Amino acid sequence: CMNVWHLHSQAADVVIERSPTFSAKPEVTTLVFGNVFTDHMLTVEWTGDEGWKKPHIRPFHNLSVHPASSALHYAVQLFEGMKAYWGQDGRVRLFRPMLNMKRMLKSAERACLPSFDGEELLECIRKLVETDQDWVPRSDSASLYIRPVLIGTEPSLGVKKPSRALLYVILSPVGSYFSTSTKPLSLWADPKYIRAWKGGTGDCKMGGNYGNSIYAQYEAAAYGCQQVLWLYGEDHQITEAGTMNLFLHWINEDGEEELATPPLDGVILPGITRQSIIELAQKWGEFKVSERSITMAHLERALKENRVMELFGSGTACVVSPVGHIMYQGKVCTHPPTAHSTHFVFTANIQPGCDLGSCVFAEFAPPLA
Ligand code: PMP
Repeated sequence: CMNVWHLHSQAADVVIERSPTFSAKPEVTTLVFGNVFTDHMLTVEWTGDEGWKKPHIRPFHNLSVHPASSALHYAVQLFEGMKAYWGQDGRVRLFRPMLNMKRMLKSAERACLPSFDGEELLECIRKLVETDQDWVPRSDSASLYIRPVLIGTEPSLGVKKPSRALLYVILSPVGSYFSTSTKPLSLWADPKYIRAWKGGTGDCKMGGNYGNSIYAQYEAAAYGCQQVLWLYGEDHQITEAGTMNLFLHWINEDGEEELATPPLDGVILPGITRQSIIELAQKWGEFKVSERSITMAHLERALKENRVMELFGSGTACVVSPVGHIMYQGKVCTHPPTAHSTHFVFTANIQPGCDLGSCVFAEFAPPLA
């Protein structure tokens, strides 16, 4: 079958070439997301004829790609985002990284980019993080962001499945969303812009979904809001905001306490943080947990009737972040955060280093030496 590719190279074959020089590590308090990179990167080339070549960990370098490369012309591309942290026990861990590998494989299939063995890639990533482990900030408020990327490097202008690809992974120390502020987010919602649609690629982590969103993001900023809240359909369903999934902790229409989040119906990215929150809340069993449609009308009515306990976003970058107000149809819907807001409960439970138990978070990568 044309669609089946295999990773012929193994993590055991990784060739490591250490950088002769080391960059100065930045102060964690000055970190701006994604601006600083570590000393090394991982690259693995693929061709249709030969499959995957040996993985290389090399000094961080610019890429040299053919100017016709399909990633540059047709966005034949995908990426992932996850984090490594120092645990309180002095070991480095990744947060549920096999879930990122699975999502990456799903994006690869949709992009017609080659498949690979997720466990082997994760072991390559572990070796890269180990090589640069001094770059993992020793701080509660910072971590090492891991960005795997898979790009089509087909040297042709034809719109077709690439016969060449490059998988690479770069690392960037990042500050915590909460180190600067726990101030609730402001969102701007206007149905004139649509992030994703059924049958599209919104449920895959492809660059095109993000490049498209920048224009709306500027309009949100012009209205004094930090992020775009993406609506979908005639009934203005809430989907997600920026690079966050959304959760509503409320008393629902039937008077039940519920943690609700929009369902994975093809227009929403299946977040690892989202999945973790759902699994944690189900394990607690303290309130109903639902994947269900939430419209702006539902939210407006609940705010009016004082039934909203909290609205918050979830994602690797922000972990869990409360939403303070939404600008929608010329009105501002405000939600004053309560003292016992859900956001603090989930933030405390999702931050690594705390005791998460073995049940939900058993998928950490093996500890580094
Ligand atoms: N939605 C979108 C559009 C995103 O880009 C992200 C970040 N990957 C998320 C949600 C949250 O996903 P995760 O919890 O896996 O970071």
